[in-house]
Amino acid sequence: MTQPLNVIMLGAPASGKGTQAERLARARGIPKISTGDILRDAAQAGAPLGLKAKALIDRGELVDDETMVGIVKERLQRPDTASGFILDGFPRTVAQAEALDRILNGRGPLIVVELWVPKEELTQRMEDRRVCSQCRSNADPEAPASDTCARCGGKMVTRADDGDATVRLHRLDVYSRESPPLLDFYRQRPAFRSISGAQSPDQVEADLMSAIESVQSPSVGVGSQGRAGRDQGPSAASERRMRP
Ligand SMILES: [Zn+2]
Repeated sequence: MTQPLNVIMLGAPASGKGTQAERLARARGIPKISTGDILRDAAQAGAPLGLKAKALIDRGELVDDETMVGIVKERLQRPDTASGFILDGFPRTVAQAEALDRILNGRGPLIVVELWVPKEELTQRMEDRRVCSQCRSNADPEAPASDTCARCGGKMVTRADDGDATVRLHRLDVYSRESPPLLDFYRQRPAFRSISGAQSPDQVEADLMSAIESVQSPSVGVGSQGRAGRDQGPSAASERRMRP
């Protein structure tokens, strides 16, 4: 069979990475692992760790590395991740990224995708973003606004951590501050791809699929052929153009 598909989705709040991670997970039959969802579940269940983490998230702060690494390590030990996984919301720091490399040692290649969206558009998107109160699906940005979840019929609500303007902007600031070192950590890797999230969700999905293909297919032919295949992906120059 094919190699496992291990993917990290990086991107600001409201960049669309959650939606794209869900689509990719469904298309490839692998779990989407959102650390935000895991922490919210833990908080809802009243677990002390979850409640502590939720308080931090509600203020727009990051949860500490040790807690996050522990959660992800435990999750990646479950058998449903054998064919791969999509991580959404982790790693957020270089220390977490280094820990993830240790956790994944020997588990196949890691594809890192950055979804890049200009800050003005992120702010605008946060005004409207809604999520299902039951299954936590993001509202489909292309579908007409509805109070009911298209997937499970649950009630659509504004995410608590998006609702307050101050928290909202703070989350963007936290991302702007925390992400450059993380992107620097991954950028030089051959399996790093940056794609524009400022497009329709379908176009982003298409770009995401070809980005993944451009990483995966070169490994079929080893060596110089692999390099040639890789050049068909987004060029370094176009990646730089998308940077702020
Ligand atoms: Zn739902």
